[in-house]
Amino acid sequence: MRILAIGAHPDDVECGCAGMLAKCAARGDQVFACVCTNGELGSVVIASVELVAVREQEARAGAAIYGAELWWMGEPDGFLFSEPRAHRQMDEVFEWATPDLVLAHGPDSYHADHRASGVLAQDAWARRRPVGGGGSALFYMDSEAGIDYAHSIYVDISDTIQLKLAALACHRSQLDWILAHDGVDLVAKRRELCRLRGRECGAEYAECFRPAWPGGMHWRALLP
Ligand SMILES: [Zn+2]
Repeated sequence: MRILAIGAHPDDVECGCAGMLAKCAARGDQVFACVCTNGELGSVVIASVELVAVREQEARAGAAIYGAELWWMGEPDGFLFSEPRAHRQMDEVFEWATPDLVLAHGPDSYHADHRASGVLAQDAWARRRPVGGGGSALFYMDSEAGIDYAHSIYVDISDTIQLKLAALACHRSQLDWILAHDGVDLVAKRRELCRLRGRECGAEYAECFRPAWPGGMHWRALLP
């Protein structure tokens, strides 16, 4: 199977679904990840121009750990919108990955870039749906803090949680910035959310998802 995960910022795929992607890679799936924006607003220490290169390097290191090829879209951080250029870019991403299964941000995310990337992903996905039904599956990832999220599908990632956290730890510039800005250890926070999701489904660690389309519950069979 070919799997495409789409995140607005360089660390979003790690946060949302890298444990599941690592399981998919291990079972032989081809995994693709798309980062929509440059992430250049994610520091007050590193200058924006320099930060783009740093964050792309961090994202590529993370993707190598969870087993994905990476597409760097290069849209401006904080200004990702549902507009023609971005839609055309997202169509290119879908052409590149030709996915059987897509993972994207849901509409209840706290961040406008996340919501925009979810719209771009869902619209590109819908444009590829064959007449008469069928086509690829589309899931929304968990919300960032695990709140206000009507998840319905769990994936046990107890065997890949360390890969997920190691991939997230590649995003050193972002971890430093969030620690300084919000006093939050992003790796520890993600570990806790996965532990909470695990408790909800009887696993040690889990990620959760929901189908982005009515009647998509049968897509559960595609997940590990
Ligand atoms: Zn983000």
